[in-house]
Amino acid sequence: MNCIFCKIINGEIQSKKIYEDEKVYAFYDINPEAPVHFLVIPKEHIISANEISEINSNIISHIFLVINKLVRELGINKEGYRIVNNCGELGGQTVDHMHFHVLGGRGLKWPPG
Ligand code: 5GP
Ligand code: ZN
Repeated sequence: MNCIFCKIINGEIQSKKIYEDEKVYAFYDINPEAPVHFLVIPKEHIISANEISEINSNIISHIFLVINKLVRELGINKEGYRIVNNCGELGGQTVDHMHFHVLGGRGLKWPPG
């Protein structure tokens, strides 16, 4: 499949891996928007949050458990951080394989642009 995140999961494209298990893969964003900026993706090719259903929604709780572990390991849990999912064109999604951004290490503004 011609998906850059599937290629990252299978090693065809190099990435700075932080964590991997049978269901998810976490790696640093190539174009970081904060001192800490990583992505957590399901190994299953789910296009976006629009494709979450009763059948596959357990991946979401697993992703949040992994984020909870990684933010503690990376030392950003106490100061705080932001979890972002961009969905679809107006949501700013540029890679059509669902991913959760985790941004930390600086103050983040709200509302987003
Ligand atoms: P989106 O805009 O879809 O929410 O986020 C896609 C993210 O993937 C962007 O922040 C972008 O920098 C990151 N990205 C795109 N291609 C690659 C890549 O080949 N490697 C890594 N590590 N990140 C990528
Ligand atoms: Zn994919």
